[in-house]
Amino acid sequence: MSVTSNQETPTNECAISIDFQLDLDQNLYGFIESNGFEVPGSTTVDPFRNHTPKIEGIYEWIKLFVFAATIGLIEGMKLASSPSPSASMEGAKEERLDFGKMGYGCRHYRRRCMIRAPCCNEVYDCRHCHNEAASMLKRLYDRHELDRFDVKQVICSVCDTEQPVSRTCTNCGVNMGEYFCEICKFYDDDIDKGLFHCDDCGICRVGGRENFFHCKKCGSCYSISLRDNHSCVENSMRHHCPICYEYLFDSMKDTVVMKCGHTMHRECYNEMIKRDKFCCPICTKSVRDMSAAWKMIDEEIEATMMPDEYRQNKTHGFGVPQKHLAKPILPPHLWIEVCIY
Ligand SMILES: [Zn+2]
Ligand SMILES: [Zn+2]
Ligand SMILES: [Zn+2]
Ligand SMILES: [Zn+2]
Ligand SMILES: [Zn+2]
Ligand SMILES: [Zn+2]
Ligand SMILES: [Zn+2]
Ligand SMILES: [Zn+2]
Repeated sequence: MSVTSNQETPTNECAISIDFQLDLDQNLYGFIESNGFEVPGSTTVDPFRNHTPKIEGIYEWIKLFVFAATIGLIEGMKLASSPSPSASMEGAKEERLDFGKMGYGCRHYRRRCMIRAPCCNEVYDCRHCHNEAASMLKRLYDRHELDRFDVKQVICSVCDTEQPVSRTCTNCGVNMGEYFCEICKFYDDDIDKGLFHCDDCGICRVGGRENFFHCKKCGSCYSISLRDNHSCVENSMRHHCPICYEYLFDSMKDTVVMKCGHTMHRECYNEMIKRDKFCCPICTKSVRDMSAAWKMIDEEIEATMMPDEYRQNKTHGFGVPQKHLAKPILPPHLWIEVCIY
């Protein structure tokens, strides 16, 4: 290939320079008579990597030595930072006690044991599970409740060992309950409930000891907001809820104390209020301060035109103004259950 073909006397210089230019495209170092060079392929990230099938040569031995020394250094550091042997044993013991925590139990309690019912010798997750099953028995006279204080034997849920009541399993060493009450033979892993044993009540309660006080007259633990702020009724919790008839004293449900001092389940109370019943079912006194409601009723009575058929009943025969009657003689749309203060 030549660009000088039409020139008769091409200068050597020019021809050389053009040839050089062309050579540059193929081999940069052609002018020093080199065949060019190849760029090596990328190396791996691991500088130690090689394809030797066996450990061979001094390089491999140095590699091994560096590796062993590094491992030794790491282990040494671990040892230096770990606690003393007795402390680590303590740690292991703690770990053992906590094994399976919150992992066992029934719908009532998280616990790592079952109880042998002293009454019927059957095994249940808890007292409530027993009572539910026993209350479903076909024959009425077989139905019964378990006395929590009578429980003698428990079965560890982790290792299945039956043993006398105690906090820690004698066989596998776990705590069968993070909370344990020796009096109530009660176990529970869920300590967030704020479990505590009230000596005056004689049973375990939830909600945190700091939030309750024991009213000696009412015979039960009440929220501290009720201290000097409730009507005492002798043993007011030692009866059945007037709505659902469950025994209140050791019921698992929340209980309210009404203005009169009588008690019932909170959910039963709310249901009662929803149905516009504002009287205590036991003594018929108002369950709460009704002055605002009475005012509203008074205003509505004032503003309502009495229909003719009621007009002659302005008083109830005894001269009592109708708004003070237990059931005022009002048009039906204004009827409301009225309670004794
Ligand atoms: Zn039983
Ligand atoms: Zn249960
Ligand atoms: Zn066990
Ligand atoms: Zn207890
Ligand atoms: Zn108490
Ligand atoms: Zn009281
Ligand atoms: Zn109830
Ligand atoms: Zn009452």
